[in-house]
Amino acid sequence: MLYRTLQSFSKYVNKMVPEVVFVLGAPGAGKGTQCTYISKEYGFVHLSAGDLLREERQRPGSEYGEMIEEKIRNGQIVPVEVTCSLLHKAMQKSGKSRFLIDGFPRNKDNLEGWERTMSDKTKLLFVLFFECSQSMCTERCLGRGAAGSGRSDDNLDSLKKRFNTYLNDTMPIIQHYEAQGLVRKIDAEKCPDEVFEKVKEAFDEIGLKTIVC
Ligand code: UDP
Ligand code: MG
Repeated sequence: MLYRTLQSFSKYVNKMVPEVVFVLGAPGAGKGTQCTYISKEYGFVHLSAGDLLREERQRPGSEYGEMIEEKIRNGQIVPVEVTCSLLHKAMQKSGKSRFLIDGFPRNKDNLEGWERTMSDKTKLLFVLFFECSQSMCTERCLGRGAAGSGRSDDNLDSLKKRFNTYLNDTMPIIQHYEAQGLVRKIDAEKCPDEVFEKVKEAFDEIGLKTIVC
C-alpha cells in the first residue's frame, strides 16, 4: 500500500519536472524556423537563447546590454550566468512544462552552468541537431540580413566569427551529447517542410503526441 502510494506520488512529481529539448546547429541551419513548427505541432514553448539575449540587450537599464551586443557582434558566447537566468525566468513565467531551448548550450561554460543550476530541475528529452553546410548557412544568413532581419550579426564578418565559435565550441557539446545517445541528427539542407517531416519522426519516436486543437 505504502509502496503504491509512493509510486504514484513519484509519478506525479515526475510529471511536474519541466521537459527540455535542446536545439543546436550552425547559425542559419534553421533552428528558429523549425522550432516555430514544433511548438505549433507539439505544444512546446519555444525559447531562443539568442532572442532572450537580444531582448535583454534592449531592456532599458540592463547592466548587460553593452556586453551582450559586443559578444553577439563578435560571434562570442555570453557568460552562462546571464543566459541561464534569462532561460530560467522565461520558463517560470510561461507556466508551462515543455520547452524547446534553441541555440543553447553553445560551449563548455554553457553546459557546465546548465548542469550546475538547471539539470536537476529539468529533464532533458533529447538534443535536436540540424546539420547544414557552412556555405548554405552563410547564404541563408546573408539573405536574412538583406531582407531586413535587423540583426547586427547577419553580415559576412560576424558570420565568419560565429562559424568559428560553432566549430570550436559548440561541436564538442554536440559530441558530448552524442556520446550519451541523446542526439537526433536532422539533414537541414532541404526546404522547411521536408526538414520538419524528419523532425516529426524524432518527436514521434519518443512518443510525443501532436496536440489536438
Ligand atoms: N548567444 C549566446 N549564448 C547563447 C545563445 C546565443 O551568447 O546561449 C549569442 C551568440 O553571440 C550568438 C548570438 O547570440 O552568436 C546569436 O544567437 P542565435 O541563436 O540567435 O543565432 P542563430 O544561431 O539562430 O543564427
Ligand atoms: Mg535563431
